[in-house]
Amino acid sequence: MLPLPPFTYHAPATLPEALSLLSEHGMDALPMAGGTDLLVNLKHRLYDARHVVGLRGLPELRGIREEPDGAVVLGALTPIAELTRNPLVRSRLPSLAAAAGAIAGPQLREMGTLGGNLCLDTRCVYVNQSRFWRQALGGCLKKDGTTCHVVPGGRNCVAAASCDTAPVLATLGARVNLASVAGEREVTVAALYVADGIRNHVRRPDELLVSVRVPPLPAGLVAGFAKLRMREAIDFPALSIAVALLAPGGRVERVAVTVGALAARPHAVAGLERFRGRIWGRDVADEIGALTRRQCHPLANINVDPEWRREVLAVHVRRAFAAAGALPAG
Ligand SMILES: Cc1cc2nc3c(=O)[nH]c(=O)nc-3n(C[C@H](O)[C@H](O)[C@H](O)COP(=O)(O)OP(=O)(O)OC[C@H]3O[C@@H](n4cnc5c(N)ncnc54)[C@H](O)[C@@H]3O)c2cc1C
Ligand code: SF4
Repeated sequence: MLPLPPFTYHAPATLPEALSLLSEHGMDALPMAGGTDLLVNLKHRLYDARHVVGLRGLPELRGIREEPDGAVVLGALTPIAELTRNPLVRSRLPSLAAAAGAIAGPQLREMGTLGGNLCLDTRCVYVNQSRFWRQALGGCLKKDGTTCHVVPGGRNCVAAASCDTAPVLATLGARVNLASVAGEREVTVAALYVADGIRNHVRRPDELLVSVRVPPLPAGLVAGFAKLRMREAIDFPALSIAVALLAPGGRVERVAVTVGALAARPHAVAGLERFRGRIWGRDVADEIGALTRRQCHPLANINVDPEWRREVLAVHVRRAFAAAGALPAG
């Protein structure tokens, strides 16, 4: 069994208290929500921080509510399992409920939180290992080394954003609220991520993700989620695909597709405005699948054959539209 490294655990009772701890300790502190990923990574000696700031006592990060304009606000500490059973989420944001239900296994979904999922560290077959294992290769750009084993000679870490809720929230135009002692700011989920697997989001170390706001969605918008994973239980995504479609009267007005688990930043498929005005149907879905395949290039950053992942991309785009109810299942 791998022991945890020594650290000081802080249990603030209010948001201002938590933010001043993060401000005081800077890069030497890590926030912890459910701890389902953080504690494993600490055991693997992926972090050198000596302070852990527990978030579970913060009432400001809890709750799910609907705003007068119809937006849905989800507290960062919302357990992933709650996203699968909350009536408001199930009725208004079914693709989010579906993605949440496909995360890990039941125990991890009870402990893991929405905020922890959105801030999940990137994953790579060469880094999510014990220090002993990694030392045999001399480390890598992300930790203790100078090279990337996935893209030798590459200057950026391409470890995968493996958080299943991010593609869904990006297609729905959701925004996150980030707080620090300096104040609050809002960032879209799409803009939360950057193409650097060493630290793949724009959240500063002194900031906390407080909540997620999904804007009021237009009547008739449908959204779906499809996931490729090697086991149907307790497995990270090999592909994580979210779609949203607005096609009043059967004609496409708006369509969005986001693919996760490729590299450090979920990929928003570009050029979808060309489908505007088309009669929605299987042929359009297949063209969108083909466009997605052209733009997405899975890497050998996880233990699933990249060429095969690319070949099944279009099928999963179709499945996501089927999950949205926009195509027949199958
Ligand atoms: C076996 C296994 C399978 C898994 N499978 C999946 C899967 O299929 N799909 C998937 O998406 N995930 C998966 N996970 C990852 C993980 O359990 C979940 O994504 C979970 O959402 C993490 O939430 P947490 O609250 O436990 O985060 P923590 O472990 O507490 O934190 C994760 C990261 O987020 C930061 N953080 C947490 N909360 C905040 C906040 N409010 N503000 C700022 N930073 C914060 C932490 O500092 C840390 O860097 C899996 C994990 C395991 C162990
Ligand atoms: S992608 Fe490269 S640098 Fe990043 S974790 Fe994997 S091996 Fe390390």
